[in-house]
Amino acid sequence: MKKKISNQFFRNFLVIFLLTILDTILAFMLLSFASGLIAGSLAKNRYPASAIVKEDYNQIDASAVVENGGGVQVIDKECRVVYSKGLDTIGKDKLTVEEFTAFLKDSKSKPYHYDILYHPEGRFWLIVTFPTSIRLDFALVYNKAAAAGDLMRAGWVIAFVVLIYLSILALFAFIYSRITAASITIPLHKLCDGTRLLREGDYSVRVDLRLKNEFAELQNTFNDMAARIEHEISLRKKSEEDRRRLILDISHDLKNPMSSIQGYVELLMKNSDITKQERDQYLEIILNNSKRANRLLMELFELSQLDSPEFSLKLERTDICEHIRQICGELVPQLEKAGFEYDFNIPEDSIFALLDLDRFSRLIENLASNAIRYNPKGTLVTVSLALKGNQIFIDLSDDGIGIPDHLAEHIFKPFVRADDSRNSKTGGSGLGLSIAKKIANAHGGDLTLLPGKSKGSTFRITIPAI
Ligand code: ADP
Repeated sequence: MKKKISNQFFRNFLVIFLLTILDTILAFMLLSFASGLIAGSLAKNRYPASAIVKEDYNQIDASAVVENGGGVQVIDKECRVVYSKGLDTIGKDKLTVEEFTAFLKDSKSKPYHYDILYHPEGRFWLIVTFPTSIRLDFALVYNKAAAAGDLMRAGWVIAFVVLIYLSILALFAFIYSRITAASITIPLHKLCDGTRLLREGDYSVRVDLRLKNEFAELQNTFNDMAARIEHEISLRKKSEEDRRRLILDISHDLKNPMSSIQGYVELLMKNSDITKQERDQYLEIILNNSKRANRLLMELFELSQLDSPEFSLKLERTDICEHIRQICGELVPQLEKAGFEYDFNIPEDSIFALLDLDRFSRLIENLASNAIRYNPKGTLVTVSLALKGNQIFIDLSDDGIGIPDHLAEHIFKPFVRADDSRNSKTGGSGLGLSIAKKIANAHGGDLTLLPGKSKGSTFRITIPAI
C-alpha cells in the first residue's frame, strides 16, 4: 500500500512539475504577444526620435513629446546640451566624453526609455526620453552571424543551466512527494499493524500516532473499538468460565447424593435378609440424600429464574419496618431452639419500600439461617434497620466464626463455601447468598458483606425507600 500511494504522489507531482514548466513558457509567450499588441499605442513608439528630427535642431517640435510626459535633448559634437524640452534626465548643460559614454551605456538599465539618434549632417545626437511604464528585461537574443564556436559554447552553457534547473526542480518534486506520501503512509502503516494484531487476537493493541489531524480521529476510533472489543471478550471469557465452573459444581454436588441413593437402593434390592433396623437406616440415608439433591435443584431453579429476562418481582408498597419485625418474630423460635442470643433494632416509624414480600422474606431468611447454621451455640444475632437519605439499610450481624478474608470477595458467587468439601456436614449448596444478592439487586438495591469486622460477619441489605 505504501508504494502505491507514494508512487501515485510522485506521478502527481511530476505532472504538476511539467505543467508548471509549460505554464511558464506560455506566460512568456503571452507576455511577448500582448506587449506586441500594445506596442503601437505607447507614447515612446508614437514619437520616436526619427519622427521629430530636423536638420536644424532648433526647428524640432517637442510639444507632443512633452505633452505625453517625455522630453527632448540635443547634444552637439562637443557634448553640450544645446536643446532641451520637457523631461531632462541628463541634468547638465555640458558633459565630458566619458560622462556621455556612460550615459549611453547605462541608458538601458534606467527606468526611462531613451530613443537616441545621431544626425550626421547636423552632427548632433537627438535624445527622446519617456519614463518607462513597466519593463521585463528578459529576452532570448541571438544572431546567426556569430562565430559558430561561440554559438555552440553559449548554447551548451544554456542547456547545462536549464538541465541543472530542471534537475533541482525534479528533485524538489521528488522529495516533496515522498515527504507528503510519508505523512499518509506512516500512520496508515501503524493503523494496519494495529488492525492486523487485533485480527490475530491481541485485543490489548492500541495505536499512538502522535498526530492532530484526521488520522488522530481514526486512531481514537480504532483505540475505542479495540478497548470495547477487549472488554467484550473479557466479559465473554468470564461468563464462559463462570458457566463452565457452574456446570462442574452442579455435577459435583449432584453426583454424591445420587450415587449414595443408587448405592443404598441396590443394597436394599440385593440383600433380602437385612434387618428392619438396617433397612430403616438405609432408607433414612436415601431420604436425606434425595432431600439434599432436591434442595440443590430447587435452588438452582430459583437462581436461574432470577437470572431469566422474563423474571419480574411482584412489588407492593410495604412498611418495611413492620415486615422485618414480622420476619424477626418468625425467627425467634429457630434462634432459641439453636441456643442463639438475639437483638432486634427496628424503628417504630413506618418506612415504605416497594417489596416482593415472598422474595424479600427469603432474602432475610437465607441470611438468618446461614447465621444459625454456621455459628456455634450462644452466638448473638442482631438485626437493625436505618434510613439514610432515601436508602434503607438493613444489617444482619452475628458475632460468630466470620467469613475468611480470602472468601469475602467471592462469597456471593454460586457454590462458594468456606467449607468446600462436597460432603459438607452443613449441607449447604453455596447458592444461598447468590440468590439473596440477586433478590436485593432485583429490588433496585444490593447485598454486601461489610468488611473489617473483627468477630463474626455483617451482611448489609440496601433498598431504596419511597
Ligand atoms: P450455603 O448454601 O452453603 O449456605 P451460601 O451462599 O448461603 O451457601 O453461603 C456461602 C458460604 O458462606 C457458606 O458455605 C458459609 O461457609 C459462609 N457463610 C455464610 N453466612 C455465614 C455466616 N453468617 N457466618 C459464617 N459463615 C457464613
